[in-house]
Amino acid sequence: LNETDKAYLLNSIRDIEDFPKPGIIFKDITTLLGDEKAFNFLLDHLSTRYENQEIDYIAGIESRGFIFGAALAARLRKRFVPIRKPGKLPYTTISEKYSLEYGVDEVAIHIDAFSSLGTHKPKVLLIDDLIATGGTATAAVKLINKAGAHCIEACFIINLTFLQGDLDIKKTTPVYSVLEV
Ligand code: AMP
Repeated sequence: LNETDKAYLLNSIRDIEDFPKPGIIFKDITTLLGDEKAFNFLLDHLSTRYENQEIDYIAGIESRGFIFGAALAARLRKRFVPIRKPGKLPYTTISEKYSLEYGVDEVAIHIDAFSSLGTHKPKVLLIDDLIATGGTATAAVKLINKAGAHCIEACFIINLTFLQGDLDIKKTTPVYSVLEV
């Protein structure tokens, strides 16, 4: 994307100050979703990037990763897998814990989310709306690999680069961010 395209997409995302707590600038992507031109422009861009790559599954992180991941999966005619908070998935799960500023959190996936494809390890594209500290996405990449698949890339619509949340993931997995702020 050129700078004009990036500015166009960035302008479709709304900044909400002090949400969910003071000091946080929340990137509200509902305004992007509510603009069919911007939403389709983004999906066109992601489709072009991934249509000729070998991908078996697109995994989206709860909950905004579901929106972008499922929309892209449908366009590319790929399978979609949800990565969720603990206690949400009904069948047997495997999970990965990660630490927060205070306490720990966890991401979970169905144990059979990536079925064996016979000849090769399933290739998975991971998607979320935003990477901040990177804790969630780093755990999600580990979880995909633990589930017997191979995460070929982690893709974000927005990377809050000042937090350097992509550093850990980049040790093992390519990272692509549409917008860097
Ligand atoms: P982290 O694990 O710190 O990288 O946080 C990433 C998750 O929290 C993503 O699923 C984001 O949707 C959400 N998130 C964190 N910070 C923000 C922010 N400033 N605006 C919107 N979403 C955020």
